[in-house]
Amino acid sequence: MKFHEMNETEVEQALNTDSTSGLTEDDVKKRRNQFGKNELEEGEKQSALLLFFSQFKDFMVLVLLAATLISGLLGEYIDAVAIIAIVIINGLLGFFQERKAERSLQALKELSAPQVSVLRDGEWIKIPSKDVVVGDLLKFTSGDRVGADVRIIESNSLEVEESALTGESLPVAKTAGAIKKANIGIGDMENMAFMSTLVTRGSGMGIVVATGMKTAMGQIADLLQNAETMTTPLQRRLEQLGKILITVALILTVLVVVAGVIQGHDLYTMFLAGVSLAVAAIPEGLPAIVTVALSLGVQRMIKKKAIVRKLPAVETLGCASVICSDKTGTMTQNKMTVTHLWSGGKQWLVDGVGYEPQGHFYRNDSQVEPKEDKALQQMLMFGMLCNHAEIKRKENEFVIDGDPTEGALLVAAMKAGYNRDTLLSQFQIMKEFPFDSERKMMSIVVKDQQGKQYIVTKGAPDVLAGVCESILWEGKRKFLNREVIGHIQKAIEDLASQALRTIAIGVKELSPNTIILDEKEAEKGLTFIGLQGMIDPPRPEVKNAVKECKEAGIKTVMITGDHVITAKAIAKQLGILTNKSKVLDGKALSEMNVDELEEVVDDVAVFARVSPEHKLKIVKALQNKGHIVAMTGDGVNDAPAIKAADIGVAMGITGTDVAKEASALVLLDDNFATIKAAIKEGRNIYENIRKFIRYLLASNVGEILVMLFAMILGLPLPLVPIQILWVNLVTDGLPAMALGLDQPEDDVMKRKPRNPREGVFARGLGWKVVSRGFLIGIATLLAFIFAYHANPDDLPYAQTIAFATLVLAQLIHVFDCRSEKSVLARNPFGNKYLVWAVISSLILLFVVIYYPPLQPIFHTVPIEMKDWLMITGLAAVPTFLLAGSFLMTKRK
Ligand code: ATP
Repeated sequence: MKFHEMNETEVEQALNTDSTSGLTEDDVKKRRNQFGKNELEEGEKQSALLLFFSQFKDFMVLVLLAATLISGLLGEYIDAVAIIAIVIINGLLGFFQERKAERSLQALKELSAPQVSVLRDGEWIKIPSKDVVVGDLLKFTSGDRVGADVRIIESNSLEVEESALTGESLPVAKTAGAIKKANIGIGDMENMAFMSTLVTRGSGMGIVVATGMKTAMGQIADLLQNAETMTTPLQRRLEQLGKILITVALILTVLVVVAGVIQGHDLYTMFLAGVSLAVAAIPEGLPAIVTVALSLGVQRMIKKKAIVRKLPAVETLGCASVICSDKTGTMTQNKMTVTHLWSGGKQWLVDGVGYEPQGHFYRNDSQVEPKEDKALQQMLMFGMLCNHAEIKRKENEFVIDGDPTEGALLVAAMKAGYNRDTLLSQFQIMKEFPFDSERKMMSIVVKDQQGKQYIVTKGAPDVLAGVCESILWEGKRKFLNREVIGHIQKAIEDLASQALRTIAIGVKELSPNTIILDEKEAEKGLTFIGLQGMIDPPRPEVKNAVKECKEAGIKTVMITGDHVITAKAIAKQLGILTNKSKVLDGKALSEMNVDELEEVVDDVAVFARVSPEHKLKIVKALQNKGHIVAMTGDGVNDAPAIKAADIGVAMGITGTDVAKEASALVLLDDNFATIKAAIKEGRNIYENIRKFIRYLLASNVGEILVMLFAMILGLPLPLVPIQILWVNLVTDGLPAMALGLDQPEDDVMKRKPRNPREGVFARGLGWKVVSRGFLIGIATLLAFIFAYHANPDDLPYAQTIAFATLVLAQLIHVFDCRSEKSVLARNPFGNKYLVWAVISSLILLFVVIYYPPLQPIFHTVPIEMKDWLMITGLAAVPTFLLAGSFLMTKRK
């Protein structure tokens, strides 16, 4: 069907829908069953079986399996079966870790899937874009991605960028009328908007004509299978490090084997021991555990209302040194109430609570009737007319549907007894020039009942005053002169210094039959009617968040389109602006280039009356200064700065699809304090990753060294292959995962941001790995030597002792890994997951030692209480020796 050729009624009939009430839930169900979900099909996913087998593709694991097979063929059945069982359990562990990581990444993707506005059962509601069906009425505004293919039936200066479909990068103007041409291409269908194309200006409404794979985008969907890999810098660094570690582990293993053979052990035993050691010592599980830790951290962030869209951001968050944040709605509540009005030299106050349309007007402390003053009357009336917001009653509360600034104007007019429907019957809206943050104004063309046409403009007062030529003063039009401009300026400053957000209204009568084509023509030669000042209280939690950020070495910068004085007043209340810091306005910013800005940028705490384009300059200047910048935004024009920032942050509630797509982090509650919470979590996740890297690598060093030293000293094998593999399984498993869930240390937000270039072993981690690993190796070796000398004929006894000491030393060391400082620096048992992980590992150890059927498999023998005393003593040495040295340095 050629929807572009049909008019609105024909489309409605063809699709059996109604553009005034939309579809009913029943219709929707039927259509979804018939046409399926509104989704583009994705590429093939790796099957679970394949993922499981990929766990065994590691070279050393294959060598181990081959060696085991040989030992099985040679008659060592028990060993062979046990080793294969352990390798399979290890593979399963890796498989579940990877699956979990994959699933949570998928869940993340779904969480950040776009929402659209549809008309259902007569109500406009927001639903996930995948639930849209053919026949739905869809509404979209600047910054949205169109949710499906629609035939447009209403257009307000609507422009759409369709480059993904047509290759044309310039936005195309869209209209609502039928196009009576049969064979036209997509690029010429001006009354159609296509799925996934981007609304760059204005707003529109349309009837959905195709969904999912049936859309124009669906036809070319294979182009879109974006397999964006989401590895983080740390993961990449670990991959490189992994290669080095494999080499080191292999060299050491070869040394162990060679030393063993020279000392008279037989080649076959040494070979199997060597391969087991290599499998144990190579931290093949590390990347998967890192992904799990990252994604678990991401889940915790979701609970705190921050959604990470790009995994690398989790790491970058911990490095952030500046947060550039919008003011309105992010630092403030975005619950606006008009409290002050000014017109022609007179000021009024309005009272009332929230958005409830009840309140009184006062002048000079006495209550007045607002309709008695012509200018006040016009200001309220036109503020209501040039407005998209709606007031709704939800339960017992009045809420705004739309822009809160406009909502406040609406409520003020309602308090004076105006009704929007009545006004719309007196004034017909002919055209609209939507608000944008560059112009800072919005205008409509209206026609009254006598056929007279007017331009009504509302916008930032200082900007609007600049396009006025007269003012309504005591009921008359008066040309603007220096004196009157002075009055206006004083009134603006007076309201702004009380932290009020200000909006001015201007009007112009048009000569008959004038056709206004663009906003430049509309927004000039206006008459200034008056000002409305509204409170927008700061969010209570922001002041504290700013303070915490400061302690964490993170500077907060306010970037706002609002008036300089309003911004200053609020920034002072929040502790962002101090006596030492500066305020820069959009005008000054426009005159500077990035280099000039760079020179002063460290001193600036507030950028006011800026346009979105300025944000990019600010990001660049800060980055040139070496900062890691988090930048918030919500509109289409914010996207470049969000993208350029190290951490682009988009608003979940007020943010457009474009801003969200460009961002790495989405704030579900649009709240500044959530950025702080995310940074704290980001720092913690990174620290937790460091904790288990340290734990795993120190364990591996210990395992290799005990074998190496024993061979060099000409001793028997202190651990048999199956024991080595068991240790690896248990240490790589639960305790390491539990460290990934550790709580932050008390001072995570008291430290300076991390240097993004720091290596894996920075801040003493390398030393900790080597020193702890060395001590664990020595402790195990000593335990083995004592036991062996006491009972030279009972090698399994000495091996059991060595095995138990190694495991216990690691399980004690794991508590030390919780702190950068020492095991004594925090309550070692504060992480309940870790306590349970360690208890489970201990139980497994006892089972392996004392459960008779397992003894031949693990080459263990039961040991006595006195043995445990020695084992515990030696196993605790590495951790407590270093804790002691910590106490000594602390005392000094
Ligand atoms: P922030 O960047 O902190 O979110 P903001 O929301 O104040 O700041 P803008 O939305 O760009 O920034 O608004 C700038 C100015 O434009 C406001 O101070 C106000 O005077 C005016 N303004 C805001 N919304 C509207 C609107 N819907 N119609 C007309 N003027 C508006």
